[in-house]
Amino acid sequence: MKHVSVVFAVLIVSSTLKAQDSRTPVVLTEAGRKVHEAGFLFDGHNDLPWQMREIGSSSFDVLDIRKHQPKLHTDIDRLREGGVKAQFWSVYVPADTNDAGTALLQTMQQIDLVHAMIRRYPDVFELARTADDLERIVKAGKIGSMMGIEGGYSIELSLANIQRLYDRGCRYMTLTHSKSLKWADSATDDPRCNGLSEFGKEVIQEMNRVGMLIDLSHVSAKCMHRSLDVTRAPVIFSHSSARALNSHPRNVPDDVLKRMKTNGGVVMVNFYSRYVIPEELAEKDQKAPGSIHDVVDHIEHIIKVAGIDHVGLGSDFDGVPRLPTQLEDVSTYPLITQELLNRGHSKGDVHKLMGGNVLRALRGAEAVSQRLRK
Ligand SMILES: [Zn+2]
Repeated sequence: MKHVSVVFAVLIVSSTLKAQDSRTPVVLTEAGRKVHEAGFLFDGHNDLPWQMREIGSSSFDVLDIRKHQPKLHTDIDRLREGGVKAQFWSVYVPADTNDAGTALLQTMQQIDLVHAMIRRYPDVFELARTADDLERIVKAGKIGSMMGIEGGYSIELSLANIQRLYDRGCRYMTLTHSKSLKWADSATDDPRCNGLSEFGKEVIQEMNRVGMLIDLSHVSAKCMHRSLDVTRAPVIFSHSSARALNSHPRNVPDDVLKRMKTNGGVVMVNFYSRYVIPEELAEKDQKAPGSIHDVVDHIEHIIKVAGIDHVGLGSDFDGVPRLPTQLEDVSTYPLITQELLNRGHSKGDVHKLMGGNVLRALRGAEAVSQRLRK
């Protein structure tokens, strides 16, 4: 009797696992690795600077990323293994810095930390100012580094700070983080300004003029639409997935995905388990991680609705507590390439979503800036 129940329990466990993801692990082939290496992998969002502040005392002596760092998703060897060519490093600071009046100061500290990283590992990283600059740096075998501001409170209600942050290397700004601002509404808070206020419009116009990409991750659907009405340059979603596959408000609804075609923007898929696994499963099991297949499902949905020219990768590594199997750290990107090839996508299409698309959006923002500065 005991034996029977053990067998029965094993059957239940294995069928539950199957229900979560019956698809087999991805195996990297030599051909897959070659396609990956030939691409320009440009990830939209990595929170290493915040992790360095939180657990590394903002010091690369404390956490030397030349060594393997098991507490991090990111270190130099794993970036190389993952074939990362360019990265937007997030200079995120929490929304409560807004109330404390320290948002800009703390953002500048995070920017200094990225500059310190580049100085400390000059054979690995180089600050990139333009899309052309990125290509030159990658040709030289280094990782092109740009920064992204996360949360519009970093400008402390001053349009002049946009240029100031641009001059320090920031090339996108997420309009909000988890809380709504006076001038832009967050996806995860009550609205305060019907999407985007008059000042919010001025922020977008100034970002267009300066050449800083507008990042619509974290904002409400209404704010997405209003921002798209105002901007003259392509936008990005630096780390958001598809709402049709998981109805979490951090994900992008289909009607916004469709607008990417005319805007020229790019939705860079977030890997966080909570956003990528199906909503019913995420609600039922708070620990379910999902797998790489779930992330590739989001990529394919965005291709279907927005088109192959409007999708990218925005991992959110070192910014999230839970990741799908086979996407545990920055070394795993080649498996995405492999799975896309397995599903019949062409090499050219894979290269577009690895980074070609966001490079094009960045060039678009640069061209608009040049016109508006005249
Ligand atoms: Zn975020």
